[in-house]
Amino acid sequence: MSPVTGCELCIQEGGLPVFRDDTLRVIRATDVDHPAFYRVIWNAHVAEWTDLPPPDRSRIMQAVAKVETVLREQLQPTKVNLASLGNVVPHLHWHVIARFEWDARWPAPVWAPAQRAVGGAEARLARPLSEVDALIAASLSGPAG
Ligand SMILES: [Zn+2]
Repeated sequence: MSPVTGCELCIQEGGLPVFRDDTLRVIRATDVDHPAFYRVIWNAHVAEWTDLPPPDRSRIMQAVAKVETVLREQLQPTKVNLASLGNVVPHLHWHVIARFEWDARWPAPVWAPAQRAVGGAEARLARPLSEVDALIAASLSGPAG
């Protein structure tokens, strides 16, 4: 499928690059309130998950699972939020967000208004995000499943 004019995920990486292969990529969003905020983005422009053939549906969900697993193991979040909205950017991507009771919007979604000011959110994480990024990349580079 060709890039779609005006689609920001067709023309831009979408965040800090963490992993990329022929079919998908993982980026880390730069969100000071929610620092462990990743996106799994299908490289080709499709709007809906069910636009993909079943093997590719499985492929992207396996990638989501690997990102979630690394976040759970390394950061022990209170909860992991998974979301696929695409209302603003209708290019298939999954948000994988480690959430903590201390974060600025807990227990609301990250898109809700902030409920409290939290300075230095990244410093509260159990591991530096550069290490988490590397572990996500290693997990996605490993065997499928
Ligand atoms: Zn696109």
